[in-house]
Amino acid sequence: MATSATLPVVNPATGSLILRLAADGPREVAQRYAVARAAQPRWAATPIRKRIAAIAKFRELVETRGDALARTLTQEVGKPIRQSRNELKGLVARLDFFIAESSRALREEKVFTDASQHLDERITHEPLGVIANISAWNYPYFVGSNVFVPALVAGNAVLYKPSEFATLTGRHIADLMHAAGVPDDVFVPLIGGGATGAALLRQPIDGVFFTGSYATGAKIAASAGKRMIKVQLELGGKDPVYVCDDVDVRTAAAAVADGAFYNTGQSCCSVERIYVHESIHDGFVDAFVAEVKTYRIGDPTDEAAYIGPLTRRAQLDVLRRQVTDAKRKGASLLLGGAAIKRSGNWFAPTVLANVDHSMLVMRDESFGPIIGIQAVADDAAAVELMNDTDYGLTAGVYTRDATRARRILSRVHAGSVYWNCCDRVSPRLPWSGVKHSGIGLTLSTMGIQAFTRPKAWHLRSA
Ligand code: NAD
Repeated sequence: MATSATLPVVNPATGSLILRLAADGPREVAQRYAVARAAQPRWAATPIRKRIAAIAKFRELVETRGDALARTLTQEVGKPIRQSRNELKGLVARLDFFIAESSRALREEKVFTDASQHLDERITHEPLGVIANISAWNYPYFVGSNVFVPALVAGNAVLYKPSEFATLTGRHIADLMHAAGVPDDVFVPLIGGGATGAALLRQPIDGVFFTGSYATGAKIAASAGKRMIKVQLELGGKDPVYVCDDVDVRTAAAAVADGAFYNTGQSCCSVERIYVHESIHDGFVDAFVAEVKTYRIGDPTDEAAYIGPLTRRAQLDVLRRQVTDAKRKGASLLLGGAAIKRSGNWFAPTVLANVDHSMLVMRDESFGPIIGIQAVADDAAAVELMNDTDYGLTAGVYTRDATRARRILSRVHAGSVYWNCCDRVSPRLPWSGVKHSGIGLTLSTMGIQAFTRPKAWHLRSA
């Protein structure tokens, strides 16, 4: 089948069409796969210092062109411009980590020597081959680079499909990568939506690295299941924070509100549920609402904007449904609660109190500017509620007491746990989820080795 589909790129802040692109169909996908397969051995044979040098050049180009890249990101996903610049700054820090740590993470390891037996045991880290990187739109530079940078450094060819909501950014990434010296048959962008991603998965790839929703991740796992290839899935979350009774209420409320509403609530690790000790509940809720009222909503190109539009229009319905359901079941709507009437995809920052786990807002990923706050009697009740979820990406606790924090966080089922912070990712720490939040990991030195297959060498010299 030839290319027939086109992909509209729409500004979510205005609803206006930016441009229309041809989407890659099955034939183009198969051709690009063949090109990458042919090129991969040559790339793997290139010395690692040269592969790292290309990433260092990519870093330099990102830094030089940062402002223009941030503007494109804001135009196509609606991210407030300061937050787009923050993403680019964070990308540079992440690239610094990969540049500094990759050689060590990937070098040959001598794990055992026995001179009397003339025996050596070693491990080498071999590239997987040709991998698919199917990506999300909410932090396209972060979630993309977590995969394609270490994958390339490890000697893989990468078929990179950016989200259909972040296509222009995906094209910028590919252009800069090629300008930096990564061959265009080694880092190969594919443009399109779910159908292009599905066509990519039908190729005989050696691994799939996916960032996106649980619903799509489950389909990908099923389609890859019988092929015995590496499948890594970074999926959604319903991340809780518990605020203990010993905190400074205003400071904690401001920090947790930022964790819930930054990026207009569209982060995989956004705070999506808040539990507050009952003895400080009312004061916390007042401080929280007062904080959210200070957020500037509006044109994401405005330097002062903090809340922008939702990137995907369909999410407006998800949020409306969560508000209606919560109100019907007895929640108190303290702020917002509806779409904002203007062109584009706007939803008012929404705070619901008196919520419980019968409500969708405390169970399903919201991925928008909406939060539920629930009172709890003690730490045990908080831990039980934090764990009462299909997801397990991150969880946080606010308290002055380090021992109490450690006790609570050690009982919480999540890939990352936070004490007096939230909505945070570090390149030095593994990024992973439990349950429906995914399998595998990125970042840290383990997230560099994730793009390789360990080969065991048993060497007897006599
Ligand atoms: P999505 O699942 O709708 O799409 C993700 C990607 O999959 C896109 O590139 C899309 O085109 C592609 N796709 C869709 N159907 C496909 C199919 N059948 N076969 C192959 N590819 C297909 O997710 P999204 O809206 O882009 O991203 C939002 C979700 O991502 C949220 O759930 C969020 O929590 C999650 N996320 C997780 C992390 C993490 O690190 N855990 C990071 C960012 C986002």
